[in-house]
Amino acid sequence: MNDDQLLRYSRHILLDDVGIDGQQRLLASHALVIGAGGLGSPVLMYLATAGVGRITVVDHDTVDLTNLQRQIAHTTARVGTPKVASAAQTMSAINPGVEVVALQERADAARLEALVASADVVLDCSDNFATRHAVNAACVTHRKPLVSGAAIGFDGQVSVYDSRSDANPCYACIFPPDATFEEVRCATMGVFAPLVGIIGTVQAAEALKLLAGVGSSLAGRLQMLDARAMEWTDIRIARQPQCTVCASRSSG
Ligand SMILES: [Zn+2]
Repeated sequence: MNDDQLLRYSRHILLDDVGIDGQQRLLASHALVIGAGGLGSPVLMYLATAGVGRITVVDHDTVDLTNLQRQIAHTTARVGTPKVASAAQTMSAINPGVEVVALQERADAARLEALVASADVVLDCSDNFATRHAVNAACVTHRKPLVSGAAIGFDGQVSVYDSRSDANPCYACIFPPDATFEEVRCATMGVFAPLVGIIGTVQAAEALKLLAGVGSSLAGRLQMLDARAMEWTDIRIARQPQCTVCASRSSG
């Protein structure tokens, strides 16, 4: 690290759990973020402030006026521009030292296979089950830790699905792909503005911990938030032997 970096990251370096070594690990890391909306905004901004060296962000959408109530990486002046470009502009303004790879495209299964393979951690900030399952499948295949978040109305949830250890469940163990979950969208249901900030910030924290090697992760635990009562519920989640995604995963 040069003198500027030592200053920029000094409040992390001061932490015994991070230190120079942990900060170096962040700088050498590559995070893949799927979605640059409500969850993606705080995720991308905190990964950039914290100095994750390379951050790839994937989102096909453009900034809409209805996004600005909660998607804090974007601005009124950027309505109509690609979300990934808008987010990259925000991130570079905060920290020009991180490399941002902005991909304006839909993350389909084949593309995710390639993108996930080169990432150290994957953050699912998407808003639909099809994408969540495609991201999960790629993470299981490549044994990459997945930090998954969701938020709708006043309800949020967040967990880590870390298939580097055979003991841990994958996303599909908890939300089977063949089950019919009601797909609820912010466009129809609404979402409380800071809720996506709370859940996205927990995702950023978990990703930074995984990359820097700090503490223990949410793997095996699902955190659910009812923001009306501001009440968190911690649910233990287990790997399902009949899971169609990870059951055939070879052990060891
Ligand atoms: Zn599974």
